[in-house]
Amino acid sequence: MADIQINPIDPVKTEAVNFEEPVVDDSEPSPMVVVEELLNKSEEKITSKEARIDQNVIIETPVFSKTEWKEGDETIDLPSTPDKESIGAVNLAPNVSLTDSEESRRWANVLAAGLQMTSYNNAFVPTIEDPEAEFHQGVPFNGAALAGAHPRFKPIEDENIKGERGILRFMSHLGLGTIFQAPLWHTGIWITFKAPSEGELLELQRQLIADKISFGRMSYGMVFSNTSSYITDRLISFAFDHIYDTTLKSDEAQKIDLKTIVSSHDIPAVVWGLLCSIYPRGFQYRRACASDPEKCNHIVEERLNLSKILWTNTKALTPWQVTHMSDRRANSKNLEAVKRYKEELLKCQNRKVEINKVSGKNMYLTLKIPTIAEYIEAGHRWIGEIVSMVNNALGIDANDKDRNDYIIKQGQATAMRQYMHWVDSIEFSSNKIEDKTTLEGILDILSADDIVRNEFMDEVSKYINETSIAVIGIPVYDCPKCNSTQESPLVLPAHTNIIPLDIYQTFFALTVQKLEKIQLR
Ligand SMILES: [Zn+2]
Repeated sequence: MADIQINPIDPVKTEAVNFEEPVVDDSEPSPMVVVEELLNKSEEKITSKEARIDQNVIIETPVFSKTEWKEGDETIDLPSTPDKESIGAVNLAPNVSLTDSEESRRWANVLAAGLQMTSYNNAFVPTIEDPEAEFHQGVPFNGAALAGAHPRFKPIEDENIKGERGILRFMSHLGLGTIFQAPLWHTGIWITFKAPSEGELLELQRQLIADKISFGRMSYGMVFSNTSSYITDRLISFAFDHIYDTTLKSDEAQKIDLKTIVSSHDIPAVVWGLLCSIYPRGFQYRRACASDPEKCNHIVEERLNLSKILWTNTKALTPWQVTHMSDRRANSKNLEAVKRYKEELLKCQNRKVEINKVSGKNMYLTLKIPTIAEYIEAGHRWIGEIVSMVNNALGIDANDKDRNDYIIKQGQATAMRQYMHWVDSIEFSSNKIEDKTTLEGILDILSADDIVRNEFMDEVSKYINETSIAVIGIPVYDCPKCNSTQESPLVLPAHTNIIPLDIYQTFFALTVQKLEKIQLR
């Protein structure tokens, strides 16, 4: 790929990292996650081409594994390269008829489906390309790595167990969905999720279909934008309904809605944590070689170790924050400590940006990272206004196509409102606006100005990318068929590049297959 820089990398100095495995002791009324002795994974190796590095990402434990392929198991097509490069590969080969043979048809389908899984508009690519950042699968602490993990249940014998406790232990015994503890690095807590039942997943899908408002993939995939606030609301509520425990003190957690303290930057980690509880062994994936379609249509078929694909910028955390996160026991942290954690997150502070400088009618916007609750509320207000406008203009009986066309037009007319929840205040001359309704009105007006709108969108997207300290993504790979460097195995840890994934798309692609299987029974 012409776009990929080949930079020399430092020889790998770090020792292989120990990923600690929390242990859950469910014998007490309030289960405690106990941090125990650490697993040493240093013998494990992956194969990878030598450095083609422009990101500071270090892989310490394998993400992909070769296992027996099971036809009919949930399978995801993953992107082979970042968005634009795969498209480039297809465009570079105009002579290849994609439907020439069964093989090339299959290749084209896998490549196209894989592209759907990349983050929209290359979101988070600038995050991992930040030269000051260093992304790891686990945050080092006292010789171990803090990372999401499936807690092991404390061994019990000759016990008569019942209720949820009995079910979770039995599911774990069968290798089915179980519990998973995920770190929320932008918030400063751990959440342990328990796998939802198939019936609950069916009900989630029914709700999502019932409140579906079509904005198309264009805006639907846009990261943290209001067009997906309904989906976010449903998914996050669903995930929070499946919390086993959190590190937040339970008397405090009961008083507040978690959505009001969890950063919207942690939405992907929440959805990922829930998915890890459903897929403790990861899932099958396919990847189509995109290096030269005229020469190679190879498809890799392996298994993705889902729990190893959250990458955290270890340089963004202070020693106090790491110590704070090293305590993974349930009910161990009060709100005061979580507040301090957020305040110490220097990368995630408010930012003042100047807009419309050239015209002389400049203004200053202060951007902030919203909580999940702020995000959902801003989205519901905006979509609610649009829907009532549609009803006024077209009447409630208008057909779906007319309604959707109108919704999209209204959405475009007030495009800046998609990011309302990222705006803290606007200053102009010596005045300041903080009132939410007034800010919404101003964003509606400003949306009509092409220059202001574009500058605003750019600044918000930059702010989102630059304030993210944890990203879900998969490493790049080398096609085993057309790339001979694959033959020399590389010992971990090693540098790699990662492709950010759209975790919503991944969640829906997996659960839809699960539900289709139920219907075939
Ligand atoms: Zn190939």
